[in-house]
Amino acid sequence: MLNTLRKIVQEVNAAKDLKAALGIIVQRVREAMGSQVCSVYLLDPETNRFVLMATEGLNKKAIGKVSMAPNEGLVGLVGTREEPLNLEHASEHPRYRYFAETGEERYASFLGSPIIHHRKVMGVLVIQQKEQRQFDEGEEAFLVTMSAQLAGVIAHAEATGSIRGLGKQGKGIQEAKFVGVPGSPGAAVGTAVVVLPPADLDVVPDKTVDDIAAELTLFNNALEGVRSDMRALSAKMATQLRPEERALFDVYLMMLEDAALGSEVVKIIRTGQWAQGALRQVVSEHVNRFELMDDAYLRERASDVKDLGRRLLAYLQQARQQALVYPDNCILVSEELSPTMLGEVPEGKLVGLVSVQGSGNSHVAIFARAMGIPTVMGAVDLPYSKIDGIQLIVDGYHGEVFTNPSEALRKQYADVVEEERQMAQGLDALRALPCETLDGHRMPLWVNTGLLADVKRAQERGAEGVGLYRTEVPFMIKERFPSEKEQLAIYREQLAAFHPLPVTMRSLDIGGDKALSYFPIKEENPFLGWRGIRVTLDHPEIFLVQTRAMLKASEGLNNLRILLPMISGTQELEEALHLIHRAWGEVRDEGTDVPLPPIGVMIEIPAAVYQVRELARQVDFLSVGSNDLTQYLLAVDRNNPRVADLYDFLHPAVLQALVKVVEGAHAEGKPVSICGEMAGDPAAAVLLMAMGFDGLSMNATNLPKVKWLLRQLSMGKAKELLAQVMSIDSPQVTHSTLQLALRNLGLGRMINPASDIQA
Ligand code: PEP
Ligand code: MG
Repeated sequence: MLNTLRKIVQEVNAAKDLKAALGIIVQRVREAMGSQVCSVYLLDPETNRFVLMATEGLNKKAIGKVSMAPNEGLVGLVGTREEPLNLEHASEHPRYRYFAETGEERYASFLGSPIIHHRKVMGVLVIQQKEQRQFDEGEEAFLVTMSAQLAGVIAHAEATGSIRGLGKQGKGIQEAKFVGVPGSPGAAVGTAVVVLPPADLDVVPDKTVDDIAAELTLFNNALEGVRSDMRALSAKMATQLRPEERALFDVYLMMLEDAALGSEVVKIIRTGQWAQGALRQVVSEHVNRFELMDDAYLRERASDVKDLGRRLLAYLQQARQQALVYPDNCILVSEELSPTMLGEVPEGKLVGLVSVQGSGNSHVAIFARAMGIPTVMGAVDLPYSKIDGIQLIVDGYHGEVFTNPSEALRKQYADVVEEERQMAQGLDALRALPCETLDGHRMPLWVNTGLLADVKRAQERGAEGVGLYRTEVPFMIKERFPSEKEQLAIYREQLAAFHPLPVTMRSLDIGGDKALSYFPIKEENPFLGWRGIRVTLDHPEIFLVQTRAMLKASEGLNNLRILLPMISGTQELEEALHLIHRAWGEVRDEGTDVPLPPIGVMIEIPAAVYQVRELARQVDFLSVGSNDLTQYLLAVDRNNPRVADLYDFLHPAVLQALVKVVEGAHAEGKPVSICGEMAGDPAAAVLLMAMGFDGLSMNATNLPKVKWLLRQLSMGKAKELLAQVMSIDSPQVTHSTLQLALRNLGLGRMINPASDIQA
C-alpha cells in the first residue's frame, strides 16, 4: 500500500496543473482500489459549494456542473462532519441526493473521505461501487491516507492556478493570499524576484521570455559545454576506469543528443519558456518516470538524469549571472533565504522578503528585523517558483503574502507604507530623549548586533549599549575559523564604535540552525544537540582564542562584557569561567593590561530558570534569551513553519518563567536584562519593564517604537497591565487583552499600522 501511495503522490506532484493533478488522482485511486468510480469534489470558497472537479466512472459531462452545498447530499455531509462515510446502500441514507447528469444511480455503495489541509476542508474524495457492500477497514484506511497526502498537493496546485490564471473554474488571474508567519514587521508593495540557490534544478522558476532565439543559443552553448566536459572527464578517467565503467559517459553523451533530452528542452523553449525552466520541466519528467520504475537499475538512472540536469543548469546560470536585474521595490522570494542573498541586492531597491522555509525566529528573520525589511517566513503553500516578476504585497505584521493584488488592496498597503515612513521620521526625533516612563522610571534600551550595518543603525537610533553581539555572524561569513588577530580587529571595531557604552559579546553560539560551512555539524535534533557552550567547552582552543581576542580588543576601552550562551547548569558555567580566567591570565602574561570584564550567563534553557539563583551567584549579570527559552519551554522548533503558530513568547508559561528569573536574579543582587526578540516587541516590552527587567536589548529597528511606547505610559499602568495578563491562562486572550489595553490608551496603531486592513 505504501508503495502505491508513494507512486500516486509522486505522479500527482509532477502534474502540470490542477486539472491534470485531479485527473491522475481519480484514475490512479480507482485502479488501486479496484472500484468502479472515483471522484473528487472541491469546495469553491466563493460559492461555498462542493463542485465535482474530476471523475472516473461517472459521466464526465457532469464535471464542473454538479455541485452541492455543505448541507446537501452525502458529499456535503462528509465535508461538514470532516469524517469518512462508508455506506452499503447510499440511496437509503436520508442525506442521499440524486444527480441525474452523473449517472450514479447504478452505484449502490459509497465511501467518501474529506480532504483537509491545515485544518481547512478543501473537498471530498469519493469511491463508489455497483454491488451493495461495506468497504472494509483497509479500503477506508487507504482512502483516508490518500486524501491526507493529496490535500497538500491539491492546495499547491490550486494556489499555482490562481497565480497563472488557471484557477479552479478556469477563472482568470486572481488575487490570492498565502499565509506564513511574521518575520519582520512592516508592509511592502513590489515586484517578486525569485532567487535560486546555485544549480538546484528543483527550485528553478517558470519564466516567460520574448527573445526565444537568445534562449536557444544559451541552451546550445550549455549543451556544448557539458558535452566537452564529458569528453574531457572520460579521457581523464581512461587510466583509472575500465572501458565498461567509462560507458556511463557515453550514456550521458547520448542523452544529450538532439533527438533525446536536448530536443525536448528545445521544444519547450520554443513555446516561450526560458531555458532553465524548460530544462527543469524535462528533467523532472524523466526523473519521475525513472523513479516510478520497479527495476532498481532503471530507478538508479534517475540520478544520472538529475546529475546531467544540474550540469546543464550550472552552465545556464553562469550565463545568467550578470543578467539578473533587481527592479525598484524588489521583493526577494526564495525557498530558503540566506543572508548572502540579501547582500546581493543593490542598496535602496529591496523592500520586502519572503521565505518558504523558516520561521520568525530563524536567523535570517533576525537579520531582516535588524535591517528593517518587512518579511514573511514559512509561506509553505506559496508556489514560489511560479511568481517571478509578478506583483506582491508583503504584510510582515500578519505574516501574509498577496499575489496579483487588486488595485484597491495595493492602494491600502501603499498608504500603510507611507504612514510607516512618516512615523519613522517622527521617531527619529526621540533619539536624544531618555527612555523614561511618565512617572520617571528609567528603562535602558540596548541593541543586538552582528552585522556591521547594525552599528550604524544602532547609533542613529540612540542605543545605550550593546546587550548582545552575536559573534557567530563574523564566523559565518568566513571560509575558515578567523584567527585571533582577525577576531581581535573585528571585536575592536565593535567596542570602539560604541565606546564608552558597554558592549556584551557572546561567546560563539554555533550549532542549532547556525552552521559554519567549514565546521559542519550533522545531527537528528540539532537544537537539542551540540550547540553553543557545549561546542566551545569541547573545543577549548576555539573558546580560548576567542576570549583572548575579546580581552585584547578591549585594552584601553574597558567596555567589554562577556556573555555565555546555552548554559544548562553550574558545571558548564564553572568550566567556562575557568577558561575565561585562564585566557585572562595568558593575555596579561603577554603584557596586555586589561581588567577582568563583567561576565554573564544567558538564561535560555528551562533548567537555567530553575537554577537561576545558583547561576546568578557566580556571575555579574544575567541575560534572558527568550527566543530559545520559548522554543525549549513550549517544545516548539523556532524554525518550523508547521508549528509556528504554537511558538508564542506571550504564553503564560514563558511569562511565569520570566518573572521567576527576575526574582531569582534580584534575590542574589544581580542585574538581569533580556535580549531575545521579545524585548523588541513594544507590547511585550511593557510587560518586561513591569516585571522588573533592568535592561531590554533588541534590534535597532524596533528601538524607537519601544522607546516611544514606554514614554507614553506610567510604570503604575504597566504593572496593572502585567497583573491582569498574569491571571490569564491562554496566549490568545493575552494577545487580545494587550492589544485592547494599548488601543484604549490610543497607542494601538503604533504597534501595527496595518491592523485595519481586512483582506
Ligand atoms: C535567544 O535565544 O533569545 C537569543 C538571543 O539568542 P539567539 O537568537 O542568537 O539564539
Ligand atoms: Mg539563543
